[in-house]
Amino acid sequence: MRQTIIIGSGPAGFTAAIYAARASLSPLLIASSVEAGGDLVNTTEVENFPGFPTGVLGPDLVQMLQAQAEKFGTEVLFEDVENLDLVGDSKRVTLSNGATHESESIIFATGSAYRKLGIPGEDRLTGHGVSWCATCDGFFFRGKTVGVVGGGDSAMQEAAFLARFADKVYIIHRTDNLRASRIMKDRALSNPKIELLVNKRVKAVRGEEAVTSVDLVNTHDGSPSTLELQGLFIAIGADPRTHLVHGKLDFNSDGTVAVDGRSSRTSLAGVFVAGDVLDATYRQAITAAGSGAVAALDAERYLAAR
Ligand code: FAD
Repeated sequence: MRQTIIIGSGPAGFTAAIYAARASLSPLLIASSVEAGGDLVNTTEVENFPGFPTGVLGPDLVQMLQAQAEKFGTEVLFEDVENLDLVGDSKRVTLSNGATHESESIIFATGSAYRKLGIPGEDRLTGHGVSWCATCDGFFFRGKTVGVVGGGDSAMQEAAFLARFADKVYIIHRTDNLRASRIMKDRALSNPKIELLVNKRVKAVRGEEAVTSVDLVNTHDGSPSTLELQGLFIAIGADPRTHLVHGKLDFNSDGTVAVDGRSSRTSLAGVFVAGDVLDATYRQAITAAGSGAVAALDAERYLAAR
């Protein structure tokens, strides 16, 4: 029986592992076989993680986090968790290869998945003009033209933030009915750099090495058009990866796992959560890392009190 098992190999999981390993909990971290390293593996330069004044490549940052976790005794398994039995003092983790592991506590840090448009060019140009995070990447678009896809509050927020850097920001929305709240809409649309394109759907992202334009289609009459831009920010939401704990833990209405106050404690004793799986607001590598530290400290205190 282990003391703790951590599920997820993003900044939340690895930071939890660093803290848990240094507290002599000998953690096992299950990293996934297909998406090990989490969201940061899909990006290029990360310029806002403290301690890297010249920036760091996303995959390199994850490797360093892993090395730091292993240095203190974390065991990392590149497998996928298929099922969790979380009730009672012994938590059972079943992997997709059939193996099972038991532990006294679980730190669940499986992140969240940004919703994609599912159009040609989107995956290929991710990190080369296609982005899901203005806070992360807005700085790279100083003096450029960018598009923001979406009509909710987060699209308005992303557009207003991008207007600090870009010369021109287009908000592209499928209908003429924006979901965003009045105040967010007014704030974005009163900015002279921001222009709203309604009844337009993005059909494809173009560019060889980096984004150069998008193909649009008019959702009323089907007429095509092209919009030249260097960045496309997709702001149509994100889904916490929680299918493994559905029906097992309590949830918030936005799909994140519910926790007790500012702690990482879930509705089940001995089960802690960290990172984007509990955070619909900030979704940053550093906030995920911070909550990984919180989860490990909570797990350590839970184990010490038993
Ligand atoms: P994740 O990093 O998503 O990690 C979750 C982990 O759980 C993954 O390893 C996944 O494989 C694993 N997992 C899921 N299901 C299972 C399972 N069943 N079994 C085993 N493992 C499982 N933030 C910044 O601060 N700066 C940036 O520059 C920046 N750039 C970004 C660029 C892109 C393209 C994206 C998508 C995000 C970016 N972010 C950036 C946001 C940042 O990456 C996330 O906020 C952060 O990675 C969240 O960390 P996490 O540990 O909660 O989840």
